[in-house]
Amino acid sequence: MPSFRSEIAGVSVVELARRFGTPTFVYDAAAVRRRIADLAAFDTVRYAQKACSNLAVLDLVRRGGALVDAVSAGEIRRALAAGFPPVGDPPPIVYTADVFDAESLELCVDREIHVNCGSPEMIDQLGARAPGRGITLRINPGFGHGESRKTNTGGEQSKHGIWHGQIDECLDRAERLRLSIDGLHIHVGSGVDMEHLSRVCGAMERAAAEAGPTLRYISAGGGLPAVYRPTDSPVDPAAYFTLWDAARKRLEQRFGHPLRLEIEPGRYLTAESGYLIAEIRAVKRQGQNTFYLLDAGFNNLARPILYGSYHPMSIAPADDGAGRGEQEVIVGGPLCESGDIFTQEEGGFVSTRRLPEAKVGEYLVIECVGAYGFVMGSNYNSKPLAAEVLIDAGRPHLVRRRQTFEDLIRGEEIPKP
Ligand SMILES: *Cc1c(COP(=O)(O)O)cnc(C)c1O
Repeated sequence: MPSFRSEIAGVSVVELARRFGTPTFVYDAAAVRRRIADLAAFDTVRYAQKACSNLAVLDLVRRGGALVDAVSAGEIRRALAAGFPPVGDPPPIVYTADVFDAESLELCVDREIHVNCGSPEMIDQLGARAPGRGITLRINPGFGHGESRKTNTGGEQSKHGIWHGQIDECLDRAERLRLSIDGLHIHVGSGVDMEHLSRVCGAMERAAAEAGPTLRYISAGGGLPAVYRPTDSPVDPAAYFTLWDAARKRLEQRFGHPLRLEIEPGRYLTAESGYLIAEIRAVKRQGQNTFYLLDAGFNNLARPILYGSYHPMSIAPADDGAGRGEQEVIVGGPLCESGDIFTQEEGGFVSTRRLPEAKVGEYLVIECVGAYGFVMGSNYNSKPLAAEVLIDAGRPHLVRRRQTFEDLIRGEEIPKP
């Protein structure tokens, strides 16, 4: 099957490219809503906004009934700007991190943002400023799991969370500062499989038994995988829920009161909703290899160069695409760096992709980029950040205009002689 894509959520790719320019990220609102609905069995779906934090996406998630996680002062401000109230039960916004910087501590204290502490120091620092609060502890269960070594967030090599052997000590710290432990949280990485998940549930049960009956909720963290490769099998949200629900129920019996069960997906909610439209600017032969060179690079989508991530790709043909052959191509970007290649494997090994023949001026769509796509973009090579478009009910909305040169140099100054 040749990989053609002429429309996204009912809107023509060529029209989107002409109207908004390239490179542009396009998100399908309905796809995000479907993913939130998949997880309706959980008491709380808390969106890990670092996956895609455009205000319009946050607003969509909020209207979809999900709450939000923030890992920085900027993300707390985004959540507030998108209409999440600072305080509520369950807390609409949770700050999850391993450290406070000055600004995030100030915000959490002033706006009474609920804090998920990933280090003993956070307990001390919050307790000194806001005694009497309820907090969550993020536990590192001593093992992890990740899509890549860089996304593994548990175990001795990981900087994340409070070490499972230190829970007792942290309970003492919290008590001294009159902080109550409302919740426990474990997030060990992306791409969790079921066998691994039961280990995580077991670790949660042991940690919860230690933390005791002040607990009112447990969070399963994120890490639900998205389908990137044709060979990836989709996660079964019902099976995922069943395992966690059983752990929750055992803890409810032990404590004799109800426990809320939260899940905290990032990738799962937005990855498959997102597309990056780029224009093919050169079709170049280097010896045996054919390159499609785009106007998008790792300044727009860093996952391939960072993790060797695979993304589906397709061509939006200028005609109906009929009768075109296919070829193995290397797909790269415009940056002055040899690693600016979208078809690469972990370790930087260049690979090829079978794609339809295409001409300069046609568009190539990189798919499944709604998570850790735009948000990892940079201004490397003085490239402006791309535009973002949200399609809802067949209508495209520009939800972030492309940066201008003025945006790029804002704040820079040449010293006066
Ligand atoms: C990144 C992160 C998530 C989301 O991870 P996904 O793999 O995108 O689901 C959830 N919780 C925390 C604390 C995170 O840091």
